[in-house]
Amino acid sequence: MTKVFLKRKIAPRIANGHPWIYGNEIEKIVGEPAAGDIVEVFYYDKKYVGRGYINQQSQIAIRLLTRKHENINDDFFLNRIKQAWKYRQKLGYTENCRLVFGEADYLPALIIDKFNDYFVIQTLSFGIERWKPAIVNALQEIFSPKGIYERNDVPVRELEGLTQQKGFLTEPFDTNIVINENGFKFNVDIENGQKTGYFLDQQDNRRAIKQIAQGADVLGAFTYTGTFEIHAAGYGAKSVYGIDISEQAVDQANKNAALNGLDGICNFEAMNAFDALKRWDKEEKKYDVVMLDPPAFTKSRESIGKAVTGYKEINLRGMKLVKNGGFLVTSSCTNLVSPELFLDTIAAAARDAKKRIRQVTFKAQASDHPIIWGLENTNYLKFLIVEVTAM
Ligand code: SAH
Repeated sequence: MTKVFLKRKIAPRIANGHPWIYGNEIEKIVGEPAAGDIVEVFYYDKKYVGRGYINQQSQIAIRLLTRKHENINDDFFLNRIKQAWKYRQKLGYTENCRLVFGEADYLPALIIDKFNDYFVIQTLSFGIERWKPAIVNALQEIFSPKGIYERNDVPVRELEGLTQQKGFLTEPFDTNIVINENGFKFNVDIENGQKTGYFLDQQDNRRAIKQIAQGADVLGAFTYTGTFEIHAAGYGAKSVYGIDISEQAVDQANKNAALNGLDGICNFEAMNAFDALKRWDKEEKKYDVVMLDPPAFTKSRESIGKAVTGYKEINLRGMKLVKNGGFLVTSSCTNLVSPELFLDTIAAAARDAKKRIRQVTFKAQASDHPIIWGLENTNYLKFLIVEVTAM
């Protein structure tokens, strides 16, 4: 096995458990590893670090899979996936969950979403791509699934020298499925939906609106397939209006409302939320509850400032649309905006909107997406409910 020695001066990150080794942290490679090969990593003083896969074409040259002297083979992946499932079961997830959350499950660059009997996987690095057959076999062995699909149509794969692709990893099946969540039903389009088809990361947070939705007139923006909004209607909202820029998402949201017998309460329309919120603010429209769940406004450190401006803008408008004593339910899903920065942004929005706010709930993503301290990209979702009153 190729041996890799790290430089004397490397970030304490690696010793502290972070699994990434950047190209500029490598002193010497003994061997000629091909992209994706398993290598053995040592500190400059020959102390053992662990084993991982290498790809010198990527900025992240090595991602560690283990700190032990264990073999990386098909069984290794089977056991890691079994562990991941045990953890989710322990936390009460039965039908749907993110089964593998990459680095947070010690399986760097691997995402597996479980939608009851169906699985959607993403292999986002060269090294993990190689183990795709082993991963598929492991899922077959543990779950005997009805179908497995890959949603590798994501740009980050290109940074690894991989192509974007999607398709069946088992016999073809109908990729329009229905899942149950918190007692509601949702259509999931595994093939053409956003990301893996459905945002499981908010599944615990959706229950948090139960009380405030009762008897409320609700506005939702960035609804995707209407999950929060349908929860609101099912929890007893008087009316629910939702908007999303994607026609496809809006069609699916209206279908989901009908699927739950809530189409008399919910109505979804396609439009740009930035324009709509501004217009309704001018028209002085008011709702008991306003919910915002925008996409990540930034994927790079360079544009954090712009993203913050975007978050501030929609939250300011959103707050102004809340009736006195009503609630704003707001999220941000980029790890580049820290929880502190997010709260500061909401506070700034409240000042500008001349509103007094009180924090009701502040959470991260659902617990099937565990957070590893020091591993920034695992702590990414902010979910906040505030009560909004006039100054
Ligand atoms: N709340 C959803 C997830 C929302 S994802 C859920 O829990 O499932 C973010 C959504 O914002 C996407 O559906 C995307 O289509 C939408 N979006 C992006 N830009 C938008 C804009 N300018 N106006 C309205 N919707 C937008």
